[in-house]
Amino acid sequence: MTGACAVHCRYCFRRHFPYQENLPKNEDWLNIKNYIEANPNINEIILSGGDPLTLSNRKLALWLERLSSLKQIQILRIHSRVPIVIPNRIDEQLISLLKNSRLRIVLVVHSNHASELDDFTCSKLLQLSDHHITVLNQAVLLKGVNDSAQTLIDLSYRLFEARVMPYYLHVLDKVKGAQHFDLESSKIDDIYRDVLANLPGYLVPKLVREIAGEKNKTPLFGATTF
Ligand SMILES: *Cc1c(COP(=O)(O)O)cnc(C)c1O
Ligand code: SF4
Repeated sequence: MTGACAVHCRYCFRRHFPYQENLPKNEDWLNIKNYIEANPNINEIILSGGDPLTLSNRKLALWLERLSSLKQIQILRIHSRVPIVIPNRIDEQLISLLKNSRLRIVLVVHSNHASELDDFTCSKLLQLSDHHITVLNQAVLLKGVNDSAQTLIDLSYRLFEARVMPYYLHVLDKVKGAQHFDLESSKIDDIYRDVLANLPGYLVPKLVREIAGEKNKTPLFGATTF
């Protein structure tokens, strides 16, 4: 939707993505619509970025209206780090936009550490689920930031206090300038084993790697999958 993010994470695998050549313009809508209608198995649309919540409510409303006009679409997913860093962005207008949509809305936020989730942020996240918006979290495993089982366990419990379900725990993508966040696979295995043993299953995020071109995230755990 946009090339802008509220945080420019140093480990972001999209930092070299040519956003300027890939931003949907108003006149692209017809092509998008034609593509979706030619693929009737598509039932979910993901708004991604950059960060779609850096757009105005007016722009989001326009895209919501367009996408919900397609009968085959049931689910709209929004991937955003904005609720974590600018919780005020979850304003009444945005909530009303999302809760009044015909589409089932899934918001995937991105928090790596319980310290990012203060009471105000949690209250905003709770407001979303109060209005039947499903909120999930993805995190990135980062050396020196959240590379201990206890930190990840605390994160899961803190998310759950805000009724956010842990979704993915990503291992680091190999991007330039982020090697200092990288962990040995044996260390990752040890941490994740501890997380599995100490959390209820429903609070354990799936440990995955993103491999370009694959149809799904690759689940990791146990030496053979690294
Ligand atoms: C991960 C990912 C998705 C969504 O995949 P899910 O496993 O369904 O969450 C979509 N697009 C891109 C580019 C992705 O990396
Ligand atoms: S918020 Fe997400 S897309 Fe934006 S810089 Fe961070 S990891 Fe990349």
